[in-house]
Amino acid sequence: MEKETNSRANKFDVIVVGAGPAGSSAAITAQKNGLKVAIIDKQAFPRNKLCAALFSGRALRSMKCVFSSIPDDSYFLNINSVTFKWGGTTIRNWTSDHKLRLSYRHDVDHWLLKLAIKSGVSDFQKVQLSKIDEENCTIELKDGRILHYNVLIGADGANSIVGRHLFGRPFDPNTIGFALETEAPEECDENADLSIDFDCVRPGYGWSFPKIKSRTIGVAALHKANPKLKSTMSKYLHSENIQEKSVNVKGAFIPLGDYHKLPGRNEILLAGDAAGLVDGLTGEGIAYAIESGAKAAEAATSAISSNTPCLAFEYYLPLVKEHHKELDIANRIRAFAYGWPFRKRFRKALETHPTMHKKFFDLLEGNASYCDIEAQINKKLLSSLMKLPNMLKYTR
Ligand SMILES: Cc1cc2nc3c(=O)[nH]c(=O)nc-3n(C[C@H](O)[C@H](O)[C@H](O)COP(=O)(O)OP(=O)(O)OC[C@H]3O[C@@H](n4cnc5c(N)ncnc54)[C@H](O)[C@@H]3O)c2cc1C
Repeated sequence: MEKETNSRANKFDVIVVGAGPAGSSAAITAQKNGLKVAIIDKQAFPRNKLCAALFSGRALRSMKCVFSSIPDDSYFLNINSVTFKWGGTTIRNWTSDHKLRLSYRHDVDHWLLKLAIKSGVSDFQKVQLSKIDEENCTIELKDGRILHYNVLIGADGANSIVGRHLFGRPFDPNTIGFALETEAPEECDENADLSIDFDCVRPGYGWSFPKIKSRTIGVAALHKANPKLKSTMSKYLHSENIQEKSVNVKGAFIPLGDYHKLPGRNEILLAGDAAGLVDGLTGEGIAYAIESGAKAAEAATSAISSNTPCLAFEYYLPLVKEHHKELDIANRIRAFAYGWPFRKRFRKALETHPTMHKKFFDLLEGNASYCDIEAQINKKLLSSLMKLPNMLKYTR
């Protein structure tokens, strides 16, 4: 009898591996849909997560939609003074129309997980997944426990063990990004300046983001093209007047536009960084994590309610493909911005083009889509090409 009760206790409709924004979003959505859900994380929350923690308007809107609320103002430093830099030189300062909200993942991720647990999700923190048995739909935890799932959602970040199970490795080492970051001690207020350097590394960028208790400084770039990112970080810290010896620099992989075209198989779905859903141009991943986590849970719900959990991936693929379209455009714009024929134009646009500044922040705010931005770039390119025959006529 006790054995039977235990076996029932270890059976879940949905098991979510990873309790970051993608995992908490998947768990709360599936739970609200009436499913029996467990969430597993190898760490105990609150936990640190390397991240610049700029929460875009889109991220907060998705959070509100999935979790029905967002953390209060005490979690964020809201600023609107922005500087664009180019290899350490300031090329443009201005005041953004939108407030940029900066926080700490240590706090916000915990806040999100607490809401998921409050909704009824079974909580397995400080527990590591060690093995997936796809045939029997079970996972084994490092402490030896076996849990049964109908649908398994891998939301376990860039080094996903669920992704490794599916594809033999969590990401492609030729296309993955890598980031180095530190928290420099500084108490910032809302008048502090946020800066982004678009030419300290290519293709990639550096950031200096003010926070309530510190300044987050980092660089991110495609890993293969930048094997010496450590020395780039040293130079960047120097240009930001930070003594390297006084800070603790840490590194993490970031899938900069490097997504899995088929993020799952049958009853197994990947969401967030595990699915590679990070914008290759801006590095934004939190909004994608929340949105894809919720989509994975909706797909799981459809599959389970029709008694066909093995079709979960078929339900999920068209939903997650909407993100792939956006990331493809971001990758194309990145190739444009960092490709040698357009590099000077990109700098000029950052320096002087008010529409481009506005679009950049409209994008972060969630008020503009990549389709709008690409259409605008194409229009500009087309008009330059139209002028070409005349220019050639006069230069002959
Ligand atoms: C340096 C840096 C700066 C960034 N800055 C920004 C930014 O400013 N704004 C933005 O929008 N995005 C930013 N991103 C991207 C953003 O951090 C990610 O896209 C986001 O964290 C993805 O969320 P997630 O839930 O998919 O994964 P994560 O937040 O990584 O969560 C994964 C969870 O899975 C757990 N886990 C891993 N393996 C196991 C296992 N075997 N068993 C159990 N649990 C496991 C981990 O402990 C972790 O809690 C940045 C990324 C980096 C690296």
